This record gives sequence, structure tokens and C-alpha cells, in this order.
Amino acid sequence: MHSKNAPEIAQIGEAVLAYAQWRLGLDPVPLDHARRPEELDALAGRTITPEGITGARALELFTEVLAPSCLSVDHPRYLSFIPCAPTPASAMFDLVVGASSVYAGSWLEGAGAVWAENQALRWIADLVGLPAESGGVFVPGGTIGNLSALVAARHTARARAAADPEGASVRPWRIAATFGAHSSIASASEVMDAELVGVPLDEGLRLTGPNLRTVLEEHGPGTFFAVVATSGTTNLGIVDDLASVAEVCREYGIWFHVDGAYGGAGLAAPSVRHRYAGIEHCDSFIVDPHKWLFAPFDCCALLYRDPALGRAAHTQHAAYLDVLTEAPDWNPSDYSVGLTRRARGLPFWFSLAMHGTDAYAAAVERTLEVTRFATEEIRRRPDLELVHEPDLSVVVFRRLGWSPADYAAWSDRIMDGGFAFVVPTSHEGETLARFAIVNPTTSEDDITAILDTMA
Ligand SMILES: *Cc1c(COP(=O)(O)O)cnc(C)c1O
Repeated sequence: MHSKNAPEIAQIGEAVLAYAQWRLGLDPVPLDHARRPEELDALAGRTITPEGITGARALELFTEVLAPSCLSVDHPRYLSFIPCAPTPASAMFDLVVGASSVYAGSWLEGAGAVWAENQALRWIADLVGLPAESGGVFVPGGTIGNLSALVAARHTARARAAADPEGASVRPWRIAATFGAHSSIASASEVMDAELVGVPLDEGLRLTGPNLRTVLEEHGPGTFFAVVATSGTTNLGIVDDLASVAEVCREYGIWFHVDGAYGGAGLAAPSVRHRYAGIEHCDSFIVDPHKWLFAPFDCCALLYRDPALGRAAHTQHAAYLDVLTEAPDWNPSDYSVGLTRRARGLPFWFSLAMHGTDAYAAAVERTLEVTRFATEEIRRRPDLELVHEPDLSVVVFRRLGWSPADYAAWSDRIMDGGFAFVVPTSHEGETLARFAIVNPTTSEDDITAILDTMA
């Protein structure tokens, strides 16, 4: 099975590379659609057998049955949730990462890969405005990124409280965030057995310093170990008032975490950079390059202003790891939940190195340009109404006269024809249409064609 010279391996190698080339060259990719388990049972049958079904057959099943049963999240008219639109270069390099058997949890084992990942992290840290000593790690997604940052925040608060006789008994530990914050914040609170306290939104649906102050005072600021602001909420794309939130966090000495999983990428775009004013004061920050920075799944950049605080919270100690943990090296695993890790930042690094950061700024700007076009088109059409002026690249709007069932029927209809994947969302109990535009190949024509289906 491990023989590198077996004829089947050479053949399969060629076929796998040919498939990858073909898939990456499809323009447009088919949207495809999910199938029921019974359909897949019938189409593919039993694939795990004592003798094996051969690589050729498994690849054929993948090509003809399994892949077409998965939505193409990189389709230009896939505008639901948050799409993923990897550059061809980053997707190709993912094959190289898999072929290279790199363990990227430690410097000892993965120095070259970790060094390259850290350069890519540095570009992001510079966009945020974090100091030279800041740093972090690429983790699987925003959920783990947020959890890891919050664990470091609580570890820091506990260490401080332990030194103070009054603080030693703080219970429960609290996190402040708005109800517009991502569900992963509630999930992290659950995992950490912390209490999530909701801060009321201002009239622009943002977290602000004054509202935060009121909530902190109400519950006792000493019980909060973190404040989470969002730089681009997932549902509406709203950027909180980071400057006033940062100021209140600094005043009370509370860890300021910014969740930019979706919207952090906008830092690269000069036309919206001003919305992030104050982000440079954050203690930790995340952004998912697999969302709006054109990397394949799964890739979240987690950064700490002071990486020592992340390390203190996350380093795992075990006899068999002593050789790693006692070395002064930069071990990525020391900065997040999780130990074993693939060099998941490398596909992003490769594409960034190849194309240069200007191309990234231009690609993000291109999606913002299409967003502005969509906004204007919605304004122009009498039966459509914008719900909120987009801060970034999420557009939420209503179709006047439609019931929730009308939205659902419309969404099914354009999906069944393989034309577009746009599922409805809701805000304050109302069903609405939503576009998340993070794919630079999504064009004005795509937007017009989708809006035409709502007439
Ligand atoms: C998507 C998202 C997350 C979760 O990220 P995953 O990569 O899906 O785990 C967290 N926060 C925000 C604002 C998001 O948009």
C-alpha cells in the first residue's frame, strides 16, 4: 500500500492531477446540488470493502456521483452564507501541502512552513496595525479562532484575579458582545462555561462604547474577561464602532477581541478601511482567509497583540512534548486550541506571494464595486427595498409583497435550475433576501440576472 513504484500509483497520480486541473479550469463551474442518502446509496453503492474497489473506481465515483452532489461554493452566483472563492493558485498549492507531509504544529518539525505562514500573518497584522511583536497561528476556522482568543483572554484575567484577594472568587466570568455577534461566540461561552452578556445595539445596529459601558457597570466590570466586537457581522455585514469600544476596554482593562472572520478582509480595501478605525487597539483578532481572502477551506488567521498571553493559555505540557515546549522556538500549536495541525496557511501564503498584496486589495475592491452596483440596482427597482446600507459586501433587502413562503419558493426555483444559490435570511423576525459577495468573479450581470428572477 505504501509502495511508491506500483503502476496503479503512477496511473492514479496522473488521474488525480488531471482531475484537479480540470476542476480548477471549469469556467463556469456547475452549481450542482445535494442528494439524499438513499440516492447516493443507489448511485455509488458500497465503497468500503475488504479488497478495495481500486483507485480508478473510487475516483470515477467521486467525479460522477460525489462531487456533483456537493454545491460549488466558488460558483459566481453562490451568494448564500459566506461563499469561498479560492484563487486557482491557492487551491493548487493545497495539493502540494498534502503531498509534503509537513507537521506544522512545531518549529522543530515545520520550520520552513511556519516561517512562511508567519509572513502571511504579518501582512494581516500590518493591515490591523498590530505591533511588530504580535503574532499568532492559522486555525481551522473562526469558531476555533474565537474560542482560542477567548480562552487566552480568560487565562489572562484569571491570572490577574489570582493576584488580587478580592478578584480570586470571580464567578461567573463574563463576555460582552452584541446579539449581532456570530453564533460561535455563544458557542465559545458555552464551552467555557462563561456567561455571555448582550449589549444593546445602537440605531445603526452597532456595538458602541457608551452602550458597552452601561452593561459593564450594570454587571460589575471586574467580572468581564473579554469584549467581542465584530468587524463585519455575518448576517448584515455591519462593522461595530471599534474606536469607542476600544476606549472603554482600555479604561476598564478588559481584553478587546475583534471578530473579523468575514469582514476583516475589508482592511485590505482602501475604500472601506476607515470603517475599522480603532481596530489597532485590539488584544486579539481573527479573519478567515477562506471567506473573503480567496484561500481554500479551512483557514482562519488568529493574531494576538501579545503572543505570550496566548502561549501561556494554550501550551500543552506532556513528557513526550518536553523537547518542543522547552525550546524557545515559535510553535504554532502553543497559540490555539488543538495540537496537531496541517500547514493550512500555506495555500494562502503561496497565492499571496505569487500575486502580491496589491492584487488582493484589488480583488476585495472588485467585490465592493459589485456590491455597490447591487445596492443601486435594488434602489432602482420599485418592488425591492434595501434593509440596511451595506458597510461591506453583504446586501440585505426585501421584496415588497412577499411572504416567507414566496422567498423560499423563489430560492428553490433558482437553485433547482442550477442557476443561483441564494437562500433567504431573517432580521428582527422578517424573512429577507441576502447576498454575500466575496467572489471577484461575481459580476454585475450575475446580480442583474438574479434580481430579474424576483420581478
Ligand atoms: C463565519 C464566521 C465565524 C465562524 O467562522 P468559521 O470559519 O465558520 O468557524 C465567526 N464569526 C464571524 C463574524 C463569521 O462570519
